[in-house]
Amino acid sequence: MVSSTSADVVIVGGGIVGVSTAYLLAKEGVSSVIVEKDSVGSHASGFAYGGLSRPRGTGPNVPVLAESWRLHERFGTELPEETGVNTEFRLRPSLSLAFADEEAAQLRASLDWRRHEEGPSVRWVDAKEVFEIEPRVNPEAIGGVYVEGGGDVEPYRLTLALVQAAEREGATVRHGTVTGLRVVGGRVRGVALEGGEIACETVVLAMGPWSAQAAEWLGVPVPVRPLKGQILRLQAPGDPFRCSLGYAGDYATTKPDGLLWTGTTEEEAGFDDRPTAAARDKIMASLLKMVPSLEDARLAQQTACLRPVSSDGQMLLGRAPGTEGAFVATAGGRQGIMLGPGMAKVVMELITRGSTDVEIEGLDPARFCS
Ligand SMILES: Cc1cc2nc3c(=O)[nH]c(=O)nc-3n(C[C@H](O)[C@H](O)[C@H](O)COP(=O)(O)OP(=O)(O)OC[C@H]3O[C@@H](n4cnc5c(N)ncnc54)[C@H](O)[C@@H]3O)c2cc1C
Repeated sequence: MVSSTSADVVIVGGGIVGVSTAYLLAKEGVSSVIVEKDSVGSHASGFAYGGLSRPRGTGPNVPVLAESWRLHERFGTELPEETGVNTEFRLRPSLSLAFADEEAAQLRASLDWRRHEEGPSVRWVDAKEVFEIEPRVNPEAIGGVYVEGGGDVEPYRLTLALVQAAEREGATVRHGTVTGLRVVGGRVRGVALEGGEIACETVVLAMGPWSAQAAEWLGVPVPVRPLKGQILRLQAPGDPFRCSLGYAGDYATTKPDGLLWTGTTEEEAGFDDRPTAAARDKIMASLLKMVPSLEDARLAQQTACLRPVSSDGQMLLGRAPGTEGAFVATAGGRQGIMLGPGMAKVVMELITRGSTDVEIEGLDPARFCS
């Protein structure tokens, strides 16, 4: 049976970007319908590590990062109050380790631009101080970069809290798969679902790694693909880690659930999001390089999910080219939890005011149309 209904704004995708958009729109008095093909937070937004870092250096995503950091801090108190869901937002220092002179040189070189990070203290620590900070680190470590002022959050709880808070203020969630847009005279008039349509004049495409499907709907390239990543949650002996540890793109931290979360991988595996033994072994090897005494840690859970990444590595954020009323917000990549709220703010402002104060040059979805 074909059903029809209408909405002010339809948001396609119930990941961090979609639910943050619904929440911020609701705060401005704009109701929305989130259409989700599976369930809210059932993909990367529910299974990410949840590391949050402050904006640093230069690059097109820095203004969005800055906005996002402010929102994460706000959400850290606002959402638990509004929903009773503890999102486990916390400030947490991190220690990036070096084991070889070349790694130390690379980390030291990053100090210059990291010193400009808003707020946190960033410094080189020698081997002695590394072991004072976290005595279980591999004694072969020759030093590291210690950063205070970053943080983390439990991504599933954050996504859940955002959708619950949005629903309280008038947003609704509808289960379904969006199959296209109804565009009349270059303007969005509705969103087509399997078995129905929602009439609307505004649509936000927050479809994560599935965003490339929208290329056909919009008639423009949307070069976004999935980049698989995996995480282990371990029951580890001993006290919680005192900070988040990092080495060569991998990380480990004790989360408030008492488990040691560690990852990750970057795999070009299409839409296959099944955990693998090869990834488990790779992640364990990296963890043991950082903390050899964890050999006996017990695997509690292994998760795999898909990051949305674009062909040039930057987000697609703003108006969809050529289709009035359509907005694209995707490709947060390895920082999608961090960036999600800021991306949502940009979209909310474009919808409610027609412009945004956040600098988004370099992120325009139209950059792929030539
Ligand atoms: C292992 C791993 C660790 C990570 N760690 C971190 C971290 O520490 N910090 C950080 O900031 N980021 C991290 N990320 C990245 C982050 O998880 C993602 O960038 C982010 O969750 C993407 O959010 P999203 O809302 O864009 O997409 P998603 O969470 O994928 O949500 C998109 C949603 O859209 C739905 N959808 C798609 N197409 C349709 C359709 N046609 N109709 C209806 N619904 C549709 C999907 O079902 C999905 O639920 C990590 C990612 C991975 C894989």
